[in-house]
Amino acid sequence: MLQLIDIKKEYSTAGTKLEALKGINLAFRKSEFVSILGPSGCGKTTLLNIMGGLDKYTSGDLIINNKSTKNYTDRDWDAYRNRSVGFVFQSYNLIMHQTILSNVELALTLAGVGKEERHKRAVEALTKVGLAQHLDKRPNQLSGGQMQRVAIARAIINNPDIILADEPTGALDTETSIQVMEILKEIAKDRLVIMVTHNPELAVKYSTRTIKLLDGNIIDDNNPYTPTKQEAKTVIPTTPPSKDKKQKTSMSFWTALHLSLNNLRTKKGRTIMTAVAGSIGIIGVALVLAISNGFSTYINTMQSDTLSAYPVTVSTATIDYDKLNSFNIEDTTNDDNNSEYVIVDQSSLTKYISYGHYNNITPNFVQAVQDFEAEDQQKRESNRALNLVQYTYFTPLKLVYKDDTKDKYSLYTAQNSISILSGTNSDIFFQELDDEDFMLSQYDVIYTTDDYNPDDMYGLTLVVGQGNHISSTLIERLGIKLTTKPDTTYENINFDDICQKEYKVIFNNDYYIFDEANNLSTLDTDDQTLLQNTYDNASQTLRINRIIRQKEDSVVSLLNNGVMYTKEFSTMYRQNCLNSTIATKQKELKATQTSNFTFYTPLKLTIAEFSNLLPTNGFADTDSINGFLNRYFSTSIDADSAYNLGLQQIGISTIPQCISFYTKSFDGKKAVEDMISNYNKTAPEGQDILYGDQSELITNTLGSIISIISYVLIAFASISLIVSSIMIGVITYTSVIERTKEIGVLRSLGARKKDVSRVFNAETTILGAFAGVIGIVIAYILCIPISLIIEHLSNISGIANLNPMHALLLIVISTLLSLIAGLIPSRYASKQDPVTALRTE
Ligand code: ADP
Ligand code: MG
Repeated sequence: MLQLIDIKKEYSTAGTKLEALKGINLAFRKSEFVSILGPSGCGKTTLLNIMGGLDKYTSGDLIINNKSTKNYTDRDWDAYRNRSVGFVFQSYNLIMHQTILSNVELALTLAGVGKEERHKRAVEALTKVGLAQHLDKRPNQLSGGQMQRVAIARAIINNPDIILADEPTGALDTETSIQVMEILKEIAKDRLVIMVTHNPELAVKYSTRTIKLLDGNIIDDNNPYTPTKQEAKTVIPTTPPSKDKKQKTSMSFWTALHLSLNNLRTKKGRTIMTAVAGSIGIIGVALVLAISNGFSTYINTMQSDTLSAYPVTVSTATIDYDKLNSFNIEDTTNDDNNSEYVIVDQSSLTKYISYGHYNNITPNFVQAVQDFEAEDQQKRESNRALNLVQYTYFTPLKLVYKDDTKDKYSLYTAQNSISILSGTNSDIFFQELDDEDFMLSQYDVIYTTDDYNPDDMYGLTLVVGQGNHISSTLIERLGIKLTTKPDTTYENINFDDICQKEYKVIFNNDYYIFDEANNLSTLDTDDQTLLQNTYDNASQTLRINRIIRQKEDSVVSLLNNGVMYTKEFSTMYRQNCLNSTIATKQKELKATQTSNFTFYTPLKLTIAEFSNLLPTNGFADTDSINGFLNRYFSTSIDADSAYNLGLQQIGISTIPQCISFYTKSFDGKKAVEDMISNYNKTAPEGQDILYGDQSELITNTLGSIISIISYVLIAFASISLIVSSIMIGVITYTSVIERTKEIGVLRSLGARKKDVSRVFNAETTILGAFAGVIGIVIAYILCIPISLIIEHLSNISGIANLNPMHALLLIVISTLLSLIAGLIPSRYASKQDPVTALRTE
């Protein structure tokens, strides 16, 4: 059943060849107890390893069960070792981190035998060698003799045909040696036991056959065996590899995991240290993610809360930033301290004018904006660019009220004044924002009258500053009397007193008066009787019924301090303007004109800061308007636009004087700006729309800070990740070196190369996952003080905030990375020669 035909084994080390076996011819019976004797170095172990399929012969043939092994594959050898051979070594070669029971079970585990069956058979084997009481002990808790009995139990568990024992008593005293020999003798009753020994006495006493070896040759065999011719004939020369799946060994990944887990458990301290060290990279990445997560959350809230509250504005009068910048550059390049002259600069007003720009907001542009708005509405909420587009039309509101300070009637006339930069109206009365919710996201309502009704279109809202402050000028212009001098102390006015004041509405027909000859005059503000009459007879009254104040944490003011009238009132008033006599007469007049338009109105084109530059008596026709625009904006406009400007003054223009885009984010601003540039591509020459954006500066600075921080953090994180991966790799390599012996044992028990690499992959997987978990836990803990420190430094709370999804992902990454880092060492482990592995101490 086992036959060696002219087996030779050559070792070549450092160029010299050494023939360890010089042509061994041997045949064994199905059951006998063979002792191999011989001096050290004569080739006993080599012979045994070859017979056990651990080592490969150089030439000759090994016949197993009448089959030649010349064409055996690795898998065949693995299966042979696992099913047919049991090894017993001088140094026991037990796996120290496994219990006695697991050690014995190992061959069955590798063969894929179920847990219960495994346990039953292991207990049986251990009972056979007299160790039934020590099942759960670890090898180092046993004596040498006991360990060798465990090794025998492990060797016989699979009920193999052959037991190969290499000096099993070499490390034992006489008494325990005898115990072991008795067991081997018992085993040899129904199988082949081949034992290498130094001890001729034991050999003679226990074995049935003694073979003497010297320098790789058999010199004596006291009970030789020659297979019958019948048997010899049946040798199949080239055996096709066994196809029987059951004969193959296979270790599941769970077995590998279990094996590695036990190994790691015995080295708790080291494992924890390794995992903690390996977790440093993960901690680094986790913290970077936590901080950038918190940071981007912060930026996002800041974007929509504050920065986006700075609108992108397209206002009739604006600043040309390109001109402004080039102007500033020119200014500084002219700085020359060696000049022999006194350099006279342009006055700042002249400078200011020179970079002013007139935006001709045409119906086409309004259409482009409305299309953009509609398109944005189609998008999903999270993808939208806009919070609100505010169209500001000039409402030529006129009010008459009692001025309590001067004790007379006073007339308020709306000023066409929109701030160039912020798009806010600097007049005392202005229309509320179209989107009440958006406005109230930045403002708190601090007072409402008892009879406050949100649907009341005649209600006014007073906007006050922080600490409820309001300027004395504003109060005076509202006609409210101050009792003490405002320059010395603050004046406190009851909310109620402010809300008592009545403002009577004057429509176009009461203001623009035509005589019989169609000559136009306006309401005489010096005529107190007339004003009182108008006041008394006015049909509509506005009254303050609500007071709001900007929220403390909101950075940008959407509104100036002043009084807001409702959108409904504004619409109604402008509708009235449309139907007013002056509007009709204006249209009639236009119908008779072809190119030059004459206006009835004394056109006061008071645009923001430029208002004081305007001719007090206004313009008579388009030439004047173009003259004005040319002088101050180097822009000329077409007749229609000029006509529109005129209509604006009497409240019948459909063209807004300012469009403010309140966006949700920086990206939203970008979208708006793209839309405007696209419009400009199609706009007539010289009629480009320029927009203003106060937040641009902040945005740019913030953007670059964020990217710098991110780059630094990403670099830091990558380094830590690389370091921790390398570390896990190195640790796995160390573990491979450390467990070389175990690799040998596993291979001798029939483990495949794949199984060995699995054990180490399992180990790195566990280490990686463990490192990941530790890293995440530590990162979560560290987030607390980091957040506190950042809060202390910058008042921004909760900056370090690790997203649970990121945490999970990091554990997976840590596991994968260490698995990858461990691949090379584990491949190295699987390639280890089992014989060399077993020889290492
Ligand atoms: P024994 O077990 O009889 O003491 P071995 O079988 O271990 O002897 O060794 C037989 C001879 O082969 C010795 O000379 C030994 O040095 C040599 N040898 C064993 N293994 C190797 C190896 N891997 N490489 C080179 N020489 C080896
Ligand atoms: Mg030896």
